[in-house]
Amino acid sequence: MEFILFILTAYIAYRIYVMVYFRSDQFTTIQRSIEAYTANCNDLNHHIQELKNAYVDVSSYDYGISVLTDSSNYNFKRTEWNNNSKNRYVHNCSASVCKNASDQPFKYLCKYFDIKVTEESLSSFEAVLNDFEAAEQGKILLREKRDSIVESIRSSIPAIIYKFNKEKLKRKLGFEEIDFSTLYFPVYTFQYVSAGGNSSTKCEITLDINNLNKFVDYLNTLVKFRKSIAGQRALMTSALREKMKVRDHYTCQSCGISAYNEKHLLLEIDHIIPLSKGGETTESNLQTLCWKCNRTKGSKIIAS
Ligand SMILES: [Zn+2]
Repeated sequence: MEFILFILTAYIAYRIYVMVYFRSDQFTTIQRSIEAYTANCNDLNHHIQELKNAYVDVSSYDYGISVLTDSSNYNFKRTEWNNNSKNRYVHNCSASVCKNASDQPFKYLCKYFDIKVTEESLSSFEAVLNDFEAAEQGKILLREKRDSIVESIRSSIPAIIYKFNKEKLKRKLGFEEIDFSTLYFPVYTFQYVSAGGNSSTKCEITLDINNLNKFVDYLNTLVKFRKSIAGQRALMTSALREKMKVRDHYTCQSCGISAYNEKHLLLEIDHIIPLSKGGETTESNLQTLCWKCNRTKGSKIIAS
């Protein structure tokens, strides 16, 4: 009993000592001496928080329902909470889309969340990856930097305070907390809920650093292919051919002969600027030619 009382008294004395120390002039002097370093660290911390928001500009599309309920009773800082609600996208779909999305996540991500396979989105995602990577590295560097600042003043602080109150010490010195959670990574969800609500499936794609690297690779490969000759040929579908013929009223755009006048006229679709010269398979670069004109054009290009 006496022993317990002794421990209790010692503990209370220690708590009082800690409390008094953090209010002492000695501590205030130390605090002042590193004020500039502290401010610097806090600035870096804010910069890291900003980097985490890189994704918000990229995804301005409005996609379905995204419900997040805040049921916590405490009113603490909600940086991550804000990031989280901005970076969640939900698409309600059939069970089979859900299944396919888990087999080919990037393909379905582009298709159902309207991410265009273009150089613009490629460079946006590259920028996001860059900022996210910097944010993740920044967190680690910031922690090391703070530790080394605290270490440098170690000799001026009583050992017992330094040893058992490191986190409190950092807070008292004015360092803001570093948010180490990774909740800011965008999450795309495909979800299927049956009509009765009895069965449901869910496929979640989180664009963390690892997935972003892969996604940038994926987009890059697709963009390159689309720009390549093979890719441009692949765009030349039967439907597009037919569409061009309708647009040109089944009439050769060179000699004016029309399928309306000549029943068995063979019409071809020609790239005005050839693929070999950097032309693209776009409607403005396509025209309907009769096979004779197309052949003449082909030989002219070869000759020139
Ligand atoms: Zn013709």
